[in-house]
Amino acid sequence: MKKFSIVVAGGGSTFTPGIVLMLLANQDRLPLRALTFYDNDGARQETIAEACKIILQEQAPDIKFSYTTDPKAAFTDVDFVMAHIRVGKYPMREQDEKIPLRHGVLGQETCGPGGIAYGMRSIGGVLELVDYMEQYSPNAWMLNYSNPAAIVAEATRRLRPNAKILNICDMPIGIEGRMAEIVGLKDRKQMRTRYYGLNHFGWWTSIEDLDGNDLMPKLREHVAKYGYVPPTDDPHTEASWNDTFVKARDVQALDPDTMPNTYLKYYLFPDYVVKHSNPNRTRANEVMDHREKHVFGSCNAIIQAGKSSAGELEIDEHASYIVDLASAIAFNTQERMLLIVPNNGAIHNFDADAMVEIPCLVGKSGPQPLTVGDIPNFQKGLMSQQVAVEKLVVDAWEQRSYQKLWQAITLSKTVPSASVAKAILDDLIEANKTYWPELH
Ligand code: NAD
Repeated sequence: MKKFSIVVAGGGSTFTPGIVLMLLANQDRLPLRALTFYDNDGARQETIAEACKIILQEQAPDIKFSYTTDPKAAFTDVDFVMAHIRVGKYPMREQDEKIPLRHGVLGQETCGPGGIAYGMRSIGGVLELVDYMEQYSPNAWMLNYSNPAAIVAEATRRLRPNAKILNICDMPIGIEGRMAEIVGLKDRKQMRTRYYGLNHFGWWTSIEDLDGNDLMPKLREHVAKYGYVPPTDDPHTEASWNDTFVKARDVQALDPDTMPNTYLKYYLFPDYVVKHSNPNRTRANEVMDHREKHVFGSCNAIIQAGKSSAGELEIDEHASYIVDLASAIAFNTQERMLLIVPNNGAIHNFDADAMVEIPCLVGKSGPQPLTVGDIPNFQKGLMSQQVAVEKLVVDAWEQRSYQKLWQAITLSKTVPSASVAKAILDDLIEANKTYWPELH
């Protein structure tokens, strides 16, 4: 079986150790000959990488492992780039969340003005990775799950139209896992689903088991009462995530014929979200205090002891969708996956040049989107507004335009007026000075 060379871009990410453990657990499906980490923060990456080096020596000494901040060394001779960068890291995520809240508007990583600010930082970072890949390994594919995926995907569609980049998100996968639990199936792969929308902005229209039995009635009944909280829920689910899964109940009530993506709560119930936010302690604070400390603490313990048992790193099992995607390309499996792709008529009554999230068959030449057909006015109206926001952000980045970015924030369904949008924008510009292009 062919063996592959992978570079993980954003090697210093808190997700990297879980992904390495997941790759090791999937060596039968996607065998590796080389694994490289790349990051532009050498010190952050070193801790994660030195711990992963010990894990790899224990479990798979044959895989050639290295880590670097040099793009040429990182991107030469690779088959896949797995990209999960966070431009500005958690301190900037904290700003994205807290600045809008100061103006009474929700603060969220990928939605509303916070997501727009993050998009303005991410576009340049992701384009740079695409360029390194094309320069040093032109036959490679980039599997990108850096956020905000919708804005990043629109930027790569427009600015690198021929790049071999696939944009994918784990949220529908996480929700499908919960759906499978709710209907009593072993896992999400026991279901066949239809879904359409934008990234973090979509709906399931059909969910069947592999025999074709309709699972929607059972799901509808459960979600109407409990949201996406399965009957025997994991007691370790964090409170803020639990709230999001319960709130899906109200989101679903707006269109009981479908099952919603949880992120729609930010667009449909922004007043509720603001009311339940603490402007002094947001999700970024939770992540810095728990997830980041835990992962770096474990890595340091492993390095000190020289053995992996000294840490408590967990395999990121649900990230195995990345192996599904890589092996679909490598072995032409034609697996059906939700990807963020140009619409090109898949949704008949929607813009051809919008980046939509729809099921695709994936093989060695990339994704083949499935036809969705016509969508109802409710979804179409919401999606048109949100696509316009995402396109205006990319316009603003490309043209260095204050005006376009003001329009983007004003148009976001999470923002009540142009004057509030302007006040938020001016604060975001100040906070993002070292990351955004200068706007005129
Ligand atoms: P993190 O801050 O722990 O890690 C991100 C790493 O990226 C950091 O080490 C940082 O130094 C590095 N980085 C930043 N800019 C870079 C650049 N220009 N070039 C190279 N490296 C750069 O963040 P995290 O919480 O692990 O999240 C990483 C990313 O993955 C985020 O964008 C997050 O939203 C995304 N994510 C996506 C999914 C999904 O399925 N779509 C799921 C989880 C996380």
